[in-house]
Amino acid sequence: MSSKIPVGILAATGSVGQRFIQHLVGHPWFEITALTGSERTAGRPYGEGVNWLLPGDPPAAVAEMIVQPTEPNLAPRVLFSALPTAQARELEPKFAQAGYIVLTNASPFRMDPCVPLLIPEVNPDHTALIPRQKEAYGWDGWIVANANCSTTSIVLPLQILHQTFGIETAVVTTLQAISGAGYPGVPSLDIIDNIVPYIGGEDGKLETEPRKLCGTYQDGEIEMAPFKVSAQANRVPVIDGHLGSVSVKLSQSASAEEVIELFKTWQPPEIIRNLPTMPESVFIYRPEANRPQPRLDRDAGNGLAWTVGGVRNCKVNDIRFLSITHNTLRGAASGSVLNAELLVKQGFIKR
Ligand code: NAP
Repeated sequence: MSSKIPVGILAATGSVGQRFIQHLVGHPWFEITALTGSERTAGRPYGEGVNWLLPGDPPAAVAEMIVQPTEPNLAPRVLFSALPTAQARELEPKFAQAGYIVLTNASPFRMDPCVPLLIPEVNPDHTALIPRQKEAYGWDGWIVANANCSTTSIVLPLQILHQTFGIETAVVTTLQAISGAGYPGVPSLDIIDNIVPYIGGEDGKLETEPRKLCGTYQDGEIEMAPFKVSAQANRVPVIDGHLGSVSVKLSQSASAEEVIELFKTWQPPEIIRNLPTMPESVFIYRPEANRPQPRLDRDAGNGLAWTVGGVRNCKVNDIRFLSITHNTLRGAASGSVLNAELLVKQGFIKR
């Protein structure tokens, strides 16, 4: 018998669901034992129902598994959710109420004051909200959320700067990949040879989520970080990888050289350094004038790393920089799996 923790994937057929499968097959701690889909795919073998988007075929370990309806009668107690927004809003609390642990990629509960919005490199202590959540909602289970994929691309360098110098304001422009819109996503005639300077709800997420992520946990609450963010999100004709261009005003002034040194020497929190999927370098500074770039840098650290560059003094604020992450890996499935690994290490998920 396997000693791994059985896990399920909700909406396993979508683009994030497929990344979960890619990332979880062969995982040393977790084993996929349930997959769910919509009415379109439920009842069919996964390999038949899925519109597989990744190289090769669906892994043999899941190809014959029968896709189940998304109802709280699944065998595994730990669930990775790649549900679309509306379905997540309705279904995830039902799972939490029924005692399931839900690690969600969807947006509805990210800003809930009782739900940890978690990125292990940024705020591993925010998991302390879990007991409060269970008590507040009377649930046997609980929900932990990932950040939006565009927020993820910029928030670790922001947190590093905030913890060292303090941030007063940040102005952010993102260049976001089309896979961020799921499958089939943005119509080709809208995006080929074009840039779309609008992604519904994204500017607001970029302006609020970093404040919660960089906030402080105290006595069952998150005090939001006091800085303000102004954001403009753009869709660009790139398949994977969100790039953020950021200009920050610091509370305590710092030169570009000091920030570069800080970025080059930063180490992740001790508690996450030996997690199974943690890459050797999760925060990479590139000195070249033309980096980071989506095609060259999105897969760094097995798709989990931030790559930053273009660190300069800003003539309007204090410091400018560029930062990139892979949106469906770091910004979604792989980030969620790393969250689960942290939760095992902290004892919230029992082995
Ligand atoms: P997607 O490619 O459009 O896939 C959504 C999937 O949801 C579809 O395959 C569909 O399954 C399934 N579905 C619909 N209703 C369902 C139900 N009742 N039960 C189970 N499955 C159901 O979207 P995505 O890009 O994977 O995004 C999934 C979630 O992750 C969204 O909340 C999104 O906001 C979030 N997210 C996405 C990214 C990204 O970069 N794409 C990043 C971070 C977060 P069938 O195939 O079975 O019909």
